[in-house]
Amino acid sequence: MKTWRFGRGLVSLALTALVLFQSVGAGAWGNEGHVAINRVAAERIPASMPRFLRRAAGEIAYLGPEPDRWRSPSEFALKNAQEADHFIDLERVSWLDPLPAGRYEFYRKLYEKRAATSSANHADDYLPEHVGLQPYITMEVYGRLKAAFREYRQRVAAHQPTQAVQQAIIFYAGWLGHYVADGSQPLHTTIQYNGWVGANPNGYTTQHGIHAQFETAYVAANVTAKDFAGLVKSPEQMDDPFAGYVAYLRQSNGLVENVYALEKAPEGLRERALRPHSSSPLDGLRPDRRCC
Ligand SMILES: [Zn+2]
Ligand SMILES: [Zn+2]
Repeated sequence: MKTWRFGRGLVSLALTALVLFQSVGAGAWGNEGHVAINRVAAERIPASMPRFLRRAAGEIAYLGPEPDRWRSPSEFALKNAQEADHFIDLERVSWLDPLPAGRYEFYRKLYEKRAATSSANHADDYLPEHVGLQPYITMEVYGRLKAAFREYRQRVAAHQPTQAVQQAIIFYAGWLGHYVADGSQPLHTTIQYNGWVGANPNGYTTQHGIHAQFETAYVAANVTAKDFAGLVKSPEQMDDPFAGYVAYLRQSNGLVENVYALEKAPEGLRERALRPHSSSPLDGLRPDRRCC
């Protein structure tokens, strides 16, 4: 069944990338999706990695939705500061290739572009918080994980206790898994994040709602961890993690139309998600620009 395989393929991308990132020294999918993605990736950590990490699948799985727990209005500063970490509108920065490796150079380029754009042409679309910062937070958490592994190796070599740094590594690995999983959700990489905008020759839906219908209701009704666990590829060393990660985001972006075509198909996302065995109501559409 075409759409079934499609859903599994998306998740496998996230898993592959997560394992890849873990192997070098190391959603957008609702609470259950992020738990499942982190768990499956953690269970595939290779035997060449330290045993404490391979035994931490439960902790890493718990941490899958952790950044989504930072989005409550009761912690306004936190919610405000990290909202843009979950997505990037790649079409908005098509003129910026390759993307700069550091977030502040990215900010500077965006503000220059905004200054050169009239308000009639929606200059504020180029604000960093509107474009999204997905690859930057991912590389920053990856950097934390890598630094923690360096500390771990030094302590092992010096025959010092490692329990505290082990806890740090588990936290960073679980935290990283969230963003890598988000990056596999095509609608977290696009200006078409929740209803088609602009030229629309294929007549895709312009209604808000497709975002949550796809990543939460559709996935909950059609995909389980068991379905995609076997699709995770073996870890590979990445020569340039930032370039590799941006390529991974572009791959997700290339699937945006597939999501809209799925919604447009006779059965559509809504009908699939509302099958009798579904436990995912569609009334959970959230008002945030990005929902998870
Ligand atoms: Zn989302
Ligand atoms: Zn997220």
